[in-house]
Amino acid sequence: MSITAPPVTFDSRFAQELPELSVPWQAEDFPDPRLLTLDETLATDLGLDPTWLRSADGVRMLVGNRVPAGARPVAQAYAGHQFGGYSPRLGDGRALLLGELTDSAGRLRDVHLKGSGRTPFARGGDGLAAVGPMLREFVISRAMHALGIPTTRSLAVVATGGTVYRESPLPGAVLVRVAASHLRVGSFQFARATRDLGLLRRLADHAIARHHPEAASSERPYLAFFEAVAAAQATLIARWMLVGFIHGVMNTDNMTISGETIDYGPCAFLDAFDPATVYSSIDHAGRYSYRNQPIIAEWNLARLAESLLPLIAEDEEQAVALATEALGRFRPRYQQAWVSGMTTKLGLSGEADAGPLIDDLVAAMQADQVDHTAFFRTLAAAHRAEAPAPMPDEWMARWRSLGPDPDAMDRVNPVYIPRNHLVEEALAAATAGDLEPVNRLVEVVSAPFTVRDGWERYAEPAPREFCDGFQTFCGT
Ligand code: AMP
Ligand code: MG
Repeated sequence: MSITAPPVTFDSRFAQELPELSVPWQAEDFPDPRLLTLDETLATDLGLDPTWLRSADGVRMLVGNRVPAGARPVAQAYAGHQFGGYSPRLGDGRALLLGELTDSAGRLRDVHLKGSGRTPFARGGDGLAAVGPMLREFVISRAMHALGIPTTRSLAVVATGGTVYRESPLPGAVLVRVAASHLRVGSFQFARATRDLGLLRRLADHAIARHHPEAASSERPYLAFFEAVAAAQATLIARWMLVGFIHGVMNTDNMTISGETIDYGPCAFLDAFDPATVYSSIDHAGRYSYRNQPIIAEWNLARLAESLLPLIAEDEEQAVALATEALGRFRPRYQQAWVSGMTTKLGLSGEADAGPLIDDLVAAMQADQVDHTAFFRTLAAAHRAEAPAPMPDEWMARWRSLGPDPDAMDRVNPVYIPRNHLVEEALAAATAGDLEPVNRLVEVVSAPFTVRDGWERYAEPAPREFCDGFQTFCGT
């Protein structure tokens, strides 16, 4: 039986509307690609037939070797502050934007390949990616999506059949990423640095149309656009903090305009609750520690505001004043989102004044180094008298007096997250050729809130010996 290509046509809106911000490019030729994992629900949602994607032609499309109708693959240009230092020219060194598809909800979605070979932005890099880090992005982005946190998605991971040389030879892979867009703070930094105001305006208009259309009808559309990005980031970072997610490399080129989490490199979830936690092996100063994330987001947004200044007002002083005022609303917005999220995690209604209770809770969680994920489930269980109280009697009494709903708690506090020791174990197996542990982990993290028999080990905290030396790597 022959399987014909589905009648989907890609758009190439970014490539056509902003030609200055990309270079037409092709993927490297991968002679022997093999599909490792596919998100069939996501495929269907994009109008792609999973059966066809699994065929030889489908897999060739997924690695960029069969350019689909309408697609004009490009490597995107962007700049960025990396660990605080500015790089005027980063760009997709090992990635391609294949094009855009419209999903079943009518939303435009980027289809993007990571690990598809060197591009003009590759600098000294080989343009490639290894199976382990690409499956890592697949697993963690799936977990984030299941947790209801805005994120880019992973459609597929395909083994290229080639070898990638890192500290040791590793099997190569391409990740197919689906995103609301790949516009980042660094895209605006790049456009601003060209001094072409027309280009900057076209980029902003493109971003407004795609992500924050309500800004277009505002009296000051570009200021309103900036505020909308800042608001989306305030809620996003609050969601990360509430679930214990550490991004690990919050450079301005890794912060989206859409408000989706992007670029799962050295990211990890907290085990023991310690706000100073840093996992990334290259983050020596702890710039991107768990507790710094809101401050860094604000710093990155200041870089976005700087890039937008000439659009915000003609008079520079006025533009700075307006942007500063708008940026000033980030902190209260973040704080409000975090307190409201914590209130929900504690099973309390929005009316409860939970501020002091939350402060005492966080201090105690830190002092006891509790497991961040298990703690909130234990608290709900304690309320039902199914577990010992994880907090002192005095705190428990104050909390109980506010009328917590333990069932509501279990709907927002996950049992299953991609725990670091389980992720490492699954990726090591996959690199050695056994995909079963990764498949199982994907299944578990896709249903994070409901306890299942047989999944006990996925809910257990990591052994202490594992946590002590745990580090993550960028996977480049
Ligand atoms: P990231 O840390 O993944 O956000 O990447 C930062 C920059 O380095 C981006 O411009 C990437 O495209 C580029 N890059 C990362 N790894 C490679 C690689 N193996 N080959 C070429 N470019 C790379
Ligand atoms: Mg990046």
